[in-house]
Amino acid sequence: MLDPYKLRKDFQMFRNKTQMQEHDLVFLDNASTTFKPDCVVEAVDQYLLNETSNTHRGDYDLCYNADVKVENARKSISKFIGANENEIVFTSGTSMSINLIAYGYAGKYLTSEDEILITQAEHASNVLPWFKVHEITGCKIDYIPLDKDGRLSPVSVEKAITKNTKIIAVAQVTNVLGFVIDVKEICKIAHKHGVLVVCDGAQSVPHMNVNVKDLDVDFLSFSGHKVCGPTGIGVLYGKYELLEKMDPLMSGGGMNAKFDMCGDVKYLNPPSKFEAGTMNIEGIYGLKAAVEYVDKIGRNNIAEYETHLRKYMIKKMREVPNIIIYNENADAGIITFNVKGVFAQDLATYLNSKGIAIRSGQHCAKILITFLHEVATCRASIYFYTTKEDIDAFVDALKKGGDYLDAYFA
Ligand code: PMP
Repeated sequence: MLDPYKLRKDFQMFRNKTQMQEHDLVFLDNASTTFKPDCVVEAVDQYLLNETSNTHRGDYDLCYNADVKVENARKSISKFIGANENEIVFTSGTSMSINLIAYGYAGKYLTSEDEILITQAEHASNVLPWFKVHEITGCKIDYIPLDKDGRLSPVSVEKAITKNTKIIAVAQVTNVLGFVIDVKEICKIAHKHGVLVVCDGAQSVPHMNVNVKDLDVDFLSFSGHKVCGPTGIGVLYGKYELLEKMDPLMSGGGMNAKFDMCGDVKYLNPPSKFEAGTMNIEGIYGLKAAVEYVDKIGRNNIAEYETHLRKYMIKKMREVPNIIIYNENADAGIITFNVKGVFAQDLATYLNSKGIAIRSGQHCAKILITFLHEVATCRASIYFYTTKEDIDAFVDALKKGGDYLDAYFA
């Protein structure tokens, strides 16, 4: 089993108390973002301090070096998810990746006859771009029913597919309920019906082995900042033949082979076609370091550790009076809960006063509230550096909440 105490030594956020922190920080908001190990900070620094230059533009050594580093990063990232290098598009994150598919593929090819299937558990970034496609094309958006716990089964996917379905867009791990869905089986079913699968990997890629070729998924996106990398950098994977058919979301320098005064434009081949403008080069340096760092720990080890810690967390949380846990039977290190009679944000604010960072609200999954029948929930989420002491401090604070929150034992 991995050793979180040893790994924490790689993180400045764990080494120093910052001025903002009165207490040792207990960080349980890893589904939102993750801390950055030294190697990521050093990689970003290396670009900013020693290797600053643009890519694809210069005929001098500094530029050449940056070109090589960016393409090496693409290589590392393609290995990380089992893709070919030319199928990795650098984006600003999952949100941009899904928008790219929505506008560049669905907006171009779908018609008012067609239908996109999503679920009620999706993050806004995997709902709103599809609403835009509906606005543009008139296509229908429908919801695949979840089971009573909120899990999506391949059987309900198969039942929901109609002759008009063209795209199924689902998160491999949902960000509130934390179920791991069987993407491989869903792809098998979808492809049998000629339907494409768009997978939101924001909450899966950092925590479990994901191999796009094995899954046979058509598109998959993830964000650098949730896998120990910098913010503002992420990835869109697409099967090459689909990327070739897709329109770019942005046009500009670096993505065209030629254009003339009559408006004739020839784009570069993917992935360059989708990377208009100066790239987030320091982000790419940082993301390379991040995926190599996480790969060295091993995502099978991360998944094993998180499963173990999740069990411990559920057992401890059950000791808290009046606690409601919404996803006891889920798989990922995301636990969504409330304390009866206490507003979620009040609970999160109280925990903050004890140095414990969790998330409260609707977690960008605003249509899930009609499934949970709750206006707001609290979410505690772990990563490989979360310790049992973190969980103990969190549960201890929850138990003592009655001293501070009037409604606690209501
Ligand atoms: N999808 C899921 C499942 C997420 O959890 C998130 C981030 N909370 C996103 C998409 C959006 O990611 P980003 O903000 O990095 O674009």
